[in-house]
This record gives sequence, structure tokens and C-alpha cells, in this order.
Amino acid sequence: MSVLVMKFGGTSVATLDRIRRAAKRVGREVAKGHDVIVIVSAMAGKTNELVGWVSETSPFFDAREYDAVVSSGENVTAGLMALTLQEMDVPARSWQGWQVPLRTSSAHSAARITEIPTDNITQKFAEGMKVAVVAGFQGISPEGRITTLGRGGSDTTAVAFAAAFNAVRCDIYTDVDGVYTTDPRITSKARKLDRIAFEEMLELASLGAKVLQTRSVELAMRYKVKLRVLSSFEDGDETAGTLVCDEEDIVESNVVSGVAYSRDEAKMTLLGVADKPGIAAAIFGPLSEAGVNVDMIVQNISEHGETDMTFSCPVDQVARAEKAMREARESGEIGFSDLVADTDVAKVSVVGIGMRSHTGVAAQMFKALSAENVNIKVITTSEIKISVLIDRKYMELAVQALHDTFGLDKVA
Ligand code: ADP
Ligand code: ASP
Ligand code: MG
Repeated sequence: MSVLVMKFGGTSVATLDRIRRAAKRVGREVAKGHDVIVIVSAMAGKTNELVGWVSETSPFFDAREYDAVVSSGENVTAGLMALTLQEMDVPARSWQGWQVPLRTSSAHSAARITEIPTDNITQKFAEGMKVAVVAGFQGISPEGRITTLGRGGSDTTAVAFAAAFNAVRCDIYTDVDGVYTTDPRITSKARKLDRIAFEEMLELASLGAKVLQTRSVELAMRYKVKLRVLSSFEDGDETAGTLVCDEEDIVESNVVSGVAYSRDEAKMTLLGVADKPGIAAAIFGPLSEAGVNVDMIVQNISEHGETDMTFSCPVDQVARAEKAMREARESGEIGFSDLVADTDVAKVSVVGIGMRSHTGVAAQMFKALSAENVNIKVITTSEIKISVLIDRKYMELAVQALHDTFGLDKVA
């Protein structure tokens, strides 16, 4: 029997009516002869509300209890989806992560999936059950505690199930009808892509395009899962949406295929750091131990044996970064004259596998930003992407300017 995985995001299960609409879609796939594994997110806004409750109750919370609370939104939608399917005479039942059990590492709030045993659900399919509804985003640690997979983690649950059950496809139903050249909320010129290469999707996701969680793309790439993103509000056939696939399966593509942004970044500069071997390790070691996700790094030129070190991190980690640096200075690990935090920056990136063989992309990017008077604070590049840090107030403008300069509204 062929297994199909269907994942419904928060807006697709935001109300009982939307759950019914999603259930009807599932019913149609069952009628085609599939056994279906449905992965559900919490109702739109629910996880944010739960995170807010945790922070309000306990600012420096115990991550295990954070996971116990924030995973609960998915329990509600899993049960409601199973009930809705039963009302439609589709044999279905729900599973919470621990019941599968979806095993993960102990890294609370950012756990990694380690194992998904298939026997339990497979047996139920053999007994005539047609739909297994699984609560996304959650799992169980080796210590027997509830874990979560990081924000947006239901995408990863879905792809991991598709890999474990060797599914024919993993369909991610969301509030847009596919992956676009950039977030369609930022520019109406954003164009839906019929196909996108795994590598490009991976970069776009990790640079801020939240349509898929980064880890879900990594897993799909590794386990060759046929991954599709499509709208839960529009009807379409099996070619609807965007297929995330191998580079070889893409016929035409632009040099730059997408623009991503990450709104909540911060830029921190340590002034007057000694320019000597081991200094980078002395700075970034404590930051990493403090759980700060450092992204871009720039070391300025050295004068009189001293230099300035600039790095970026998510804006909500600034307090933690400052504390780690102050403690490192007090313990004599590092010396610096001042620490300056700029919390009003955003990162904008262009991505495209065509950059491997084309030169001039960076120059064109910088020219387009300069034409809009956008000042670039930090630049980083890799083989298929260029990222810049700019003032947050220019973020939308920068995305639009880059989308225009690379002609992303049309196929080259
Ligand atoms: P879900 O709740 O279904 O998981 P998300 O809000 O996590 O949905 O992801 C969908 C959103 O991702 C869209 O509404 C859109 O604003 C945003 N997005 C960002 N970049 C892109 C892109 N390149 N293509 C499509 N959507 C994008
Ligand atoms: N509900 C979780 C979140 O909002 C997981 C998900 O939706 O993928 O992050
Ligand atoms: Mg999501």
C-alpha cells in the first residue's frame, strides 16, 4: 500500500471549519487508495501564545517545561483532525509524538529526530485504519521528556515520516500556493516557482524564508523525499505547488533564484580587542557556550596590535551575548574597551546555484542597494549566496530592489 504524507500548517487548521476543509482533502487522497499520515501544526497563533505564557511565568525558564507547554497546541489539532475524519467515516486515530514514539535528542526546543519506529502505525494500517494523524513538532528524549523540534518543526516531522515510511510524496499544505522567488508578502512581483533545487531551498530556508524549516529540507535531500509545497486553500492536481527536487531536474533557472530576509538580527562589535593568535577562539567559544548563534563575523584591520571584532546574532540573544562577553572579560579570558550592540538591523540575501558559474552577482547586488541609498554594514558570501546586513527600516525596500535588479518576476 502506498503511503502519502500530508502536513497542514497553522493557518490551514486555524478553525474547525478549516480543519474540516483539510480533512476533506485527506479523504480525497484516501479515496485514491493511499494510506495517509497527516501531520498537523497547532492552530495559527497558538504556539506564540504558549511561548508568551512560558516567558511571562519564568523569564529564564527550564527548557524541558517550555517544551511540555509549547508542544501542547499540536495535541489539540491532532485529536480534532482525527475526530473530523471519523465524522466523515474515514477510519482515523491520533498519535502524539511520544506515542509513536518519535525519538529525539535531548536538545530541548531544538531537538533532532533520531528514530521513528514504523511498526505501530503500519500495523494499524494493516488492520484497516486509513489515516494516522500525528501531532507535529514534538517528540520524546532518551530521558523520557517531551521535546520540540524548533519553530516551524512540523515540516521536519512531516519529512521524517515520509522518509521512515518511504512515502510516495510529502505534501506541505500552507497559506501560499508554493515557494516564491521571495516572500509574496513583501512584493506582489514575487513569482511562484514550479520547481526549486534542494540546495537553493536549503539556503533560502536557513536565510529566513520560513515556508519550510531548514532541517526538513536537509532531511528531504538526504533521504530523497519527494517534497511539495502547496496551498490548502486552492484546489489543484498533482502538479500544483512547488516541487523541491534535484538540481538536474530543473530545466530553466535564473542565475539568482530567490531573495530571503531575516528581520530580527543584531550586530555587535567588540572594540579594542588584542590582535593575537587565539583571540577569535577566546571570543566565540564563550558565545557558543552561552547558546548564542553567531552568524556573520568580520575582523577589522589591526592598528597598534588592536582590532575590532564584529559579529551578528538573533536580536533576542543580545542580552545573553553581552553577559557572556562581560563575564569573559572579568575572568581575564579576553580584553576589550567597549561592546556596541546595534539591534536595528536585518539580513537580506540572494540565492542561486547559477552563481557558481556566473560572476558579477555581488557587484550587481551592491549597485542596486546603493541606488536605493541602502548602506551595507556587513557582507558574507558562499558558493550560492550573498548576504548583507542593513538597517531594518530598509529591509522591504532592499528585497524589492534586489528582486527587480535580478529580474526575478520573469524566467530568464
Ligand atoms: P505554516 O503555518 O503553514 O507552516 P508558515 O507561516 O510557517 O506556514 O510559512 C508560510 C509563509 O512563509 C508564507 O505565508 C510566506 O509569508 C512565508 N514565506 C517567506 N518566504 C517565502 C517564499 N520564498 N515563498 C513562499 N512563502 C514564503
Ligand atoms: N506550531 C509550531 C510553530 O509554530 C510548529 C509548526 O507550526 O511547524 O513553530
Ligand atoms: Mg511553518
